[in-house]
Amino acid sequence: MGDGDGTVIIGAGPAGLTAAYELLRHGRPVRVYEADDVVGGISRTVERDGWRFDIGGHRFFTKVARVEDFWHEILPDEDFLLRPRMSRIYYRGALFDYPLNAGNALRNLGLLEAARCLGSYGRARLRPPKDQSHFEGWVSARFGWRLYSIFFKTYTEKVWGMPADRLQADWAAQRIKNLSLATAMRNALLPRRNRTDVTSLIEEFQYPKHGPGMMWERCAEEVARRGGTVRTGAWVTEVHRDPAARRATAVTVADAGGERTEPAAHVISSMPISALVRAMRPEAPPEVRAAADDLRYRDFLTVALVVPEEFSFPDNWIYVHDPAARVGRIQNFGSWSPYLVKDGRTCLGLEYFVFEGDEMWRTPDAELVGFATAELERLGLVKPGCVEAGYVVRMPKAYPVYDERYQHNVDVIRDWLAAYVPNVHPVGRNGMHRYNNADHSMLTAMLTAENIAHGAEHDVWTVNVEQDYHEQRSPSRHGTGRDAPVVPARR
Ligand SMILES: Cc1cc2nc3c(=O)[nH]c(=O)nc-3n(C[C@H](O)[C@H](O)[C@H](O)COP(=O)(O)OP(=O)(O)OC[C@H]3O[C@@H](n4cnc5c(N)ncnc54)[C@H](O)[C@@H]3O)c2cc1C
Repeated sequence: MGDGDGTVIIGAGPAGLTAAYELLRHGRPVRVYEADDVVGGISRTVERDGWRFDIGGHRFFTKVARVEDFWHEILPDEDFLLRPRMSRIYYRGALFDYPLNAGNALRNLGLLEAARCLGSYGRARLRPPKDQSHFEGWVSARFGWRLYSIFFKTYTEKVWGMPADRLQADWAAQRIKNLSLATAMRNALLPRRNRTDVTSLIEEFQYPKHGPGMMWERCAEEVARRGGTVRTGAWVTEVHRDPAARRATAVTVADAGGERTEPAAHVISSMPISALVRAMRPEAPPEVRAAADDLRYRDFLTVALVVPEEFSFPDNWIYVHDPAARVGRIQNFGSWSPYLVKDGRTCLGLEYFVFEGDEMWRTPDAELVGFATAELERLGLVKPGCVEAGYVVRMPKAYPVYDERYQHNVDVIRDWLAAYVPNVHPVGRNGMHRYNNADHSMLTAMLTAENIAHGAEHDVWTVNVEQDYHEQRSPSRHGTGRDAPVVPARR
């Protein structure tokens, strides 16, 4: 197996395409296989009837200079918009500023409820909940039960699909770090622009004018122009290995034309790490397969509804904390970019957090459009009868789930790959089972390209985009710069 066989890259999301581009920069041949018929992965832009939808809403924001440089190498400045971040919380008919603003919260809650919240805060300070090991205990100790139940409980439970007292607390500490009622009040009184010390307060971000997919469509074109190949509709079904040589030797690719097996000197994989293990031929040992089978995901579904512009709002999205509604967040795609929508209309993306195969996931599109329309009307955000069209976008495996065993499972797989197929390189979000932003996926890909191209020995598992990457600095197997709660494992 010579290096002439080049590198096969599984997946054309941010990680896969960054890896391809960087390897070509080093003069190395690459072939990218993408199972879907579009590039961009979760960072794609979906287009239907001329409307463009973002899966969630992708802010381009990073502290990593080489990621920022990469974005601007791929897209010219005129393709970027600089957008203000604005989002509010919908709760029982009122819109609360987010991050919370004391005056606005007080006005929306009313004097009586505000007094109850303060009383409940006072009680929590005097007699904090005994068990603060879970999300509910940790947050209610800092904000009081009433504020916790209004501003944290419902949304968190919608996202993760389980009661908040079953989520471990470290995630809360990470996600709302430095934020307490006292800091929230202080922030409410300080000037707001460019305050980036608290994770949830990023005020401005870049956004490609046609959505995040534009970045990856252009990147794929660049990869092809520089001599690489990017095939969509091409599913990598098997990764062949030579156990004696302890190397991967080839991959099997299935597409509309059938199946073929191609040699590979290296394999960079951004496919879910659980599926990578299952694709190994000969099979991985039972304990490694068991670890793969135990990894879990949370899935995501958007119902995008076209409405007249008068129902537009300035927010990028609104969090729906109202327990009566099933929807978790509502994107206003027109607020992300006027190029996503059409004149005189905007498009509201109602986001539902689901499990692949559950009742909602299986509901036919037309019914989902009806259901989402009724929710939107009930919330009072649009007038009855004003929805003109609706589209459903399903995104499986949107979130890798952190449960009590996930770290152990990932470690088992990671150690086996390193020992038995060291030329298979996991990168990116599901590729490494990391709850991340795109900059983390990209940095893992850049460092992997250097490992392949000139034998650098970066340990990509230690990449944390909140810190500059330094080989020597207290490597951790956990951080990405973004964190998720640890949920109970399946028994
Ligand atoms: C709701 C939501 C909001 C987000 N908001 C932001 C944000 O504001 N800013 C930000 O930076 N990030 C955001 N992210 C995270 C961002 O989407 C991811 O970090 C990024 O897309 C991960 O890139 P990736 O290449 O690692 O993986 P993916 O995007 O998952 O790409 C992997 C690709 O591999 C392909 N694939 C899988 N299996 C195979 C196979 N067997 N053969 C061939 N191809 C295969 C998939 O089809 C996919 O295209 C958000 C994510 C979600 C879910």
